[in-house]
Amino acid sequence: MSVLSRPYFYDEQAAFDLVESMIWPNGPVCPHCGCCENIKVIKPNPEKRVRFGLKKCGQCKGQFTVRMGAIFEESKLPLTKWLQAIFLMTASKKGVSAHQLHRTLEITYKSAWFLAHRIREAMRSGDLAPFGSGGGMVEADETFIGRRAGVPVRQGIGHKMKVLSLLDRATGAKRSMVLDNMKPETIQSIVLANVSREAHLMTDEAGHYCRIGKQFAAHSEVNHGKSEYVPKADPTIHTNTIEGSFSIFKRGMRGVYQHCGEKHLHRYLAEFDFRYSNRAALGVDDTQRALAAVKGVVGKRLTYRQPD
Ligand SMILES: [Zn+2]
Repeated sequence: MSVLSRPYFYDEQAAFDLVESMIWPNGPVCPHCGCCENIKVIKPNPEKRVRFGLKKCGQCKGQFTVRMGAIFEESKLPLTKWLQAIFLMTASKKGVSAHQLHRTLEITYKSAWFLAHRIREAMRSGDLAPFGSGGGMVEADETFIGRRAGVPVRQGIGHKMKVLSLLDRATGAKRSMVLDNMKPETIQSIVLANVSREAHLMTDEAGHYCRIGKQFAAHSEVNHGKSEYVPKADPTIHTNTIEGSFSIFKRGMRGVYQHCGEKHLHRYLAEFDFRYSNRAALGVDDTQRALAAVKGVVGKRLTYRQPD
């Protein structure tokens, strides 16, 4: 037996049972009216197409399945394939390309592309709680990747896409944002919106952090320009955790995804943040990580339809 021989990867009813138990831990909820009482299971009519997980609401008489209102809703793919894709994407540290999903799941490339973007949406954290609450340490740093459309390649970072990431040392969670520019006020407003004022901020010596750092209970810097990474006097002062996460992100983006336009970058960031925030070093195994993504599927339908 292996992970891949679990029933929910090939038996549609088992897949429904799993997803229902994750999305409705306290029993089914009608997506039409929000009612959770007198919900009846509709027995499949063998004369007709079997609709797995079909239920009828005793209140509004509407019919529904667990796919409604979740990222699964607009797709015709069986839930077993969704779960296979979620497992592959959450278990692979650097991600899985749409071409790989297309070949492994034996679905069209177009379906694979949609599936992957919807799963990224499920991985997007809705958690807006500030990092570093209670005085914890938070690392902040920027990284640069790929190139912005229509911007000529020159020396420096002007043509690259810009990312700001924050990492809460206490929980291990990471949160990343695409930056429109590197203006100090842009970076400051994001850091202030996402980090508690009682936090101890850890950054490199970049000029903008001098001013931003003053707004927090404590601010420590390492001077990368002078090859200082961990000061001997206090080995807790560093930004090595967040830089380690950047290296996974860059290897994945370069090796697996290759081309990513700026308008989709935030989705890839959500994917890498999700895996990093649920990483093995924090005690989360592959199955727990996949199930955490399944829980994230509710209320996150994508509105666009065309791959580009
Ligand atoms: Zn209802």
